[in-house]
Parts: sequence; structure tokens; C-alpha cells
Amino acid sequence: MAKLTINEDACKGCSLCTRVCPKHILELNREKLNAKGYHPIHCINMDECIGCASCARMCPDVVFTVER
Ligand code: SF4
Ligand code: SF4
Repeated sequence: MAKLTINEDACKGCSLCTRVCPKHILELNREKLNAKGYHPIHCINMDECIGCASCARMCPDVVFTVER
């Protein structure tokens, strides 16, 4: 069971992580703006996350914390 924590306010909306997630569960939240004024990343189906940490390795802004 993986636990993904997302620090939304650290996200700059670059979308790099959305391309590397093997489960395609990361999307920019177009309905929200974070503290920096970007549409932040969110996870559309937390139950599908396998904890591979590809997103955490890819993100230049350390938005993700993955615990397994
Ligand atoms: S840990 Fe892996 S499966 Fe989970 S959101 Fe990140 S890239 Fe996707
Ligand atoms: S890679 Fe990081 S900064 Fe870029 S969209 Fe994903 S979470 Fe946001």
C-alpha cells in the first residue's frame, strides 16, 4: 500500500510528472490555483498509486513524498 503526499503549493505546473506516471493518475487541477498562482498537480485516483516514486524523481520542485 503506497502513500503519496502532494505539496500542492510547491508545484509550478510544468506537467513533467504527468508523463512519467505509469498509472496516468496525475493531472493538473484546472479548477484551482496554488499559492504561486499555478494550476497544481493532483492525483485523480489515489487507490491506483503503486508507489513507484517516478513522479518524485522527476519533479524538480520536490512536490511528492512517497511512502511504502
Ligand atoms: S508513485 Fe508512481 S504510480 Fe504513484 S503517482 Fe507517482 S508515478 Fe504515479
Ligand atoms: S513535476 Fe512537480 S512541479 Fe511539475 S507539474 Fe509535476 S508536481 Fe508540479
